Amino acid sequence: MTNEDYHFLKNGGEMGELIRSIDWSKTPIGPVDKWPQSLRIATSIMLSTPFPMYIAWGDDYIQLYNNGYRPILGSSKHPQAMGISTRETFSEIWNIIGSMFDGVMNGTAVGFPNFMLPLDRNGYIEECFFDFSYSPIYNDDETVGGVLVTVIETTENLKNTEKLKESNAALKSSEANLRNLISHAPVAMALFRGPEYVIEIVNQKVLELWGKTYEQVINKPVFEGLPEVIGQGIDVLLENVFSTGERFIANELPVNLLRNGELQLVYLNFVYEALKDSDGKIYGIAAVAIEVTEQVAARRKVEEVEERARLAIEAAKIGTFEYNLLDDTVVTSLRFDEIMGIDNTSDHNQYLAAIHPEDLLIRGKAFEKAYDTGRLFYEVRVKKGDEIRWVQAEGRVYYENENKPSRILGTLLDITEQKSDEMRKNDFIGMVSHELKTPLTSLTAIIQLANVKLKISDDSFLSGAMEKANTQVKKMTAMINGFLNISRLESSKIQIDRQEINLEDLLEETISEIELTVTSHQIHFERCKPIMVSADHDKISSVISNLISNAVKYSPKGKDIEVKCIVVDNNAQVSVRDEGMGIKATHIDKLFERYYRVESDHTRNISGFGIGLYLSAEIIQRHDGKIWVESETGIGSTFYFSLPLTHAS
Ligand code: ADP
Repeated sequence: MTNEDYHFLKNGGEMGELIRSIDWSKTPIGPVDKWPQSLRIATSIMLSTPFPMYIAWGDDYIQLYNNGYRPILGSSKHPQAMGISTRETFSEIWNIIGSMFDGVMNGTAVGFPNFMLPLDRNGYIEECFFDFSYSPIYNDDETVGGVLVTVIETTENLKNTEKLKESNAALKSSEANLRNLISHAPVAMALFRGPEYVIEIVNQKVLELWGKTYEQVINKPVFEGLPEVIGQGIDVLLENVFSTGERFIANELPVNLLRNGELQLVYLNFVYEALKDSDGKIYGIAAVAIEVTEQVAARRKVEEVEERARLAIEAAKIGTFEYNLLDDTVVTSLRFDEIMGIDNTSDHNQYLAAIHPEDLLIRGKAFEKAYDTGRLFYEVRVKKGDEIRWVQAEGRVYYENENKPSRILGTLLDITEQKSDEMRKNDFIGMVSHELKTPLTSLTAIIQLANVKLKISDDSFLSGAMEKANTQVKKMTAMINGFLNISRLESSKIQIDRQEINLEDLLEETISEIELTVTSHQIHFERCKPIMVSADHDKISSVISNLISNAVKYSPKGKDIEVKCIVVDNNAQVSVRDEGMGIKATHIDKLFERYYRVESDHTRNISGFGIGLYLSAEIIQRHDGKIWVESETGIGSTFYFSLPLTHAS
């Protein structure tokens, strides 16, 4: 019979095969056919069970083991362990297990859970843990034939348990940290667990935000603790975070909360973050929120004000612009583009190209002035398709460091209607003044003639009356000339006829003429060397005359008027100083505007239309000159104008 034939050696897989291949007669156990019944039964059980089993037979503890036991032997003890003594195979721990084996042979079974044995089974000593029992295998004669070892290695288990313990501890401390963090956080923080979003942790800030007490919400599903938020879309947000793990960030989300019994609309910035366990499974949601209701309200208010301003601007049909002087770009409103007849662009040159070429100079000068004064103002024509329209630009200059103009913010108005109204009015004034001139000229001639004749008359009343009539007619002529000039100026019909003139002569000539009618004031003029300018004789004369008449009009009788002419920086500078009422600073900028008059008790009884200075300024400007005033109320005013010298060097 071969080993294969024995029933008790059947089964057992690989180890069964190994056992069968061994010639047991060469071992202390002896040939298989001589094996005692007890060994046969024990071997049979061992080979048919998947649990690790091991038999140490006889006094030499000769080993047999099954597939389940095999891994315990590692890579260095198997297969040679089969059929040899335990003393040899487990020499490194024989001092521990030897006595136990001996005890078993004497009938004492032993067993330990998680027993540590330092095994050298893979080429190095490792700590291994086993649940094991050593039990005696009894022969028929009640003697013990060997040791049956059933063993389960628990090393891996233990390691896992250890890890679990560690991670549990870590989890505990991190959760403790989390709780601590949340309760001391300066913002509202809460933790919802599970698909029901049970409120597990909340801090004081959350309770304040919700308007709830701790007891009202803790350990309750969110929608039970805060029933008022149902239907506000929060459920969808939470669900999404819980199912996808994707963080949700809300910005100024409006939420209605029942706070202290009252439904209140609040705005929240918040984050929902999915909480994941070590396997990446989502078990809850952490929520962090900040209430921004006040900020939103404040911003809304600002927006409202802006909107109102915008509406007002729209209503007034005003276009707005922001011109960046540093990079020559411009940001304009829709209305601005509409007025200019240009499709929106940041290219400043495109807007420039729309301006009537003849008016570009006006615009250029206005800008130069704006850099000095901080205020921009000009009126120019623009070509809008075939149409010519008038626009009025106004702006404020903003400066960077070193007073460098960097931006102009301003408005644009279509004033075409206004302009054509003005033109009609000007035409009318021009026509009327022109028509009045002819009868007035006759009247002047008649009065002058009558004057001469009546001078020798005895009738003192008549001679005085004629003198007065003469003065009044002169005033009227000046006035009508003024209107005529204005209307010519406005319709650009005013012509500057330049010629070389000596300003000294012109001044003296004009002053002498005035002195013929003015007796109330002393006009002082000191001649000096000739000053040559290229100018329109009559028009500059009318400017001088206007300034001196004003000095007379606006200062008390008997006061002095001083006229001077000097050269300053290649310019001839004329000044007319009076000792009159002076002009308040608030009016000074506007004096040269058309029809502007200072309204006060002083000026009320002084006749005038507010066109003299306007006309003077226009005339001086057309001569590339400058006109200005320095004044102190109660002390007097000095009006200046300057003209470029002919031979400037
Ligand atoms: P008019 O004298 O006809 O009112 P002007 O254009 O000549 O018009 O002057 C505009 C305004 O400037 C005057 O109404 C007056 O209030 C003020 N003004 C002009 N000259 C003087 C001056 N020498 N002193 C004080 N105020 C003056």
